[in-house]
Amino acid sequence: MKALAKMLELPFNMALRFPILDFKSLPFGENLNPKLLRGVVALVAVGFTTAAYIYYRRRSPTKGSLDPNNFKEFQLIKKTQLSHNVARFRFALPTPSSVLGLPVGKNILARGKDSQGEEVLRSYTPITLDSDVGYFELVVKMYPNGKMSHHFRQMKEGDYLAVRGPKGRFSYKPGQVRGFGMLAGGSGITPMFQLIRAILENPKDKTKVHLVYANVTEDDILLKEELDDFANKFPHRFEVHYVLSKPPNQWNGGIGFISKEMIRSHCPEPAQDIQILRCGPPPMNKAMAANLDALGYTSNMQFEF
Ligand SMILES: Cc1cc2nc3c(=O)[nH]c(=O)nc-3n(C[C@H](O)[C@H](O)[C@H](O)COP(=O)(O)OP(=O)(O)OC[C@H]3O[C@@H](n4cnc5c(N)ncnc54)[C@H](O)[C@@H]3O)c2cc1C
Repeated sequence: MKALAKMLELPFNMALRFPILDFKSLPFGENLNPKLLRGVVALVAVGFTTAAYIYYRRRSPTKGSLDPNNFKEFQLIKKTQLSHNVARFRFALPTPSSVLGLPVGKNILARGKDSQGEEVLRSYTPITLDSDVGYFELVVKMYPNGKMSHHFRQMKEGDYLAVRGPKGRFSYKPGQVRGFGMLAGGSGITPMFQLIRAILENPKDKTKVHLVYANVTEDDILLKEELDDFANKFPHRFEVHYVLSKPPNQWNGGIGFISKEMIRSHCPEPAQDIQILRCGPPPMNKAMAANLDALGYTSNMQFEF
């Protein structure tokens, strides 16, 4: 508001001072209508102020809604069950024009209570970006005995979730690599999804993305519609290869766990300007690290969320 007031100062002062100008002393002054001229100046002033305000807002977008040191509460406004154990949670931001303020690649820490009433803290990656204004969304897989899973299972629309952030070691700037290979398992898709969206929704970003996404059954594949949609819309920038350990009878994706052969066929070859990201359950991350090492990807070509 202060910045707006400051920007308004100049044109208002101009408009206020204008009436005391002696038009008649100007060479063309005799023919000027002072009322009309004041109106024109006022219009120009308002136009200038609006343009300056829009420019200022674009240059410095709304401050984020997160605090890295303190938990803040966000109200659950929509819970959509996606499958028997996965739901999409939409949380309202403080105002309809607020943004979450989470840099691409970062995540948040959520606080909840397990079935014994004990406090539990877990990391989550919103599937929304700061281009989604007024809300953010989490896709959460709820495990039968999971502590935070219990909290999310119990949450009803109208409840509040305590969140702290941003946090995380990964940061992204368009063009930092030529291409990403992504090895995701189950809910490990969420950090990948956030990055895929940010890359594909930026027409200036030429980074290529190759996703290999592993699950148990076809029903377990999260965000499939959105991923398939990206693959259709951006065939030269994004490819996805699904892998199932329990595939249906008719299945043309990969079968089993993600193997070295699958990585070789679906990810960019080792090079200094590519990176392979992985995110999945700990045993999968370990197996993928061994596969990548064996294929010659150096440690700076690998990243684990
Ligand atoms: C950076 C980061 C981002 C994440 N983003 C998301 C997200 O957006 N959505 C989401 O659903 N999860 C995400 N996770 C995982 C999340 O943090 C929790 O680990 C998950 O919700 C399980 O927590 P829990 O307390 O319910 O389970 P816990 O009580 O910790 O574990 C209970 C049991 O659940 C099973 N389990 C737990 N985690 C996994 C797993 N990842 N894969 C397979 N089995 C598991 C194990 O059998 C375990 O013994 C993310 C994790 C990280 C590190």
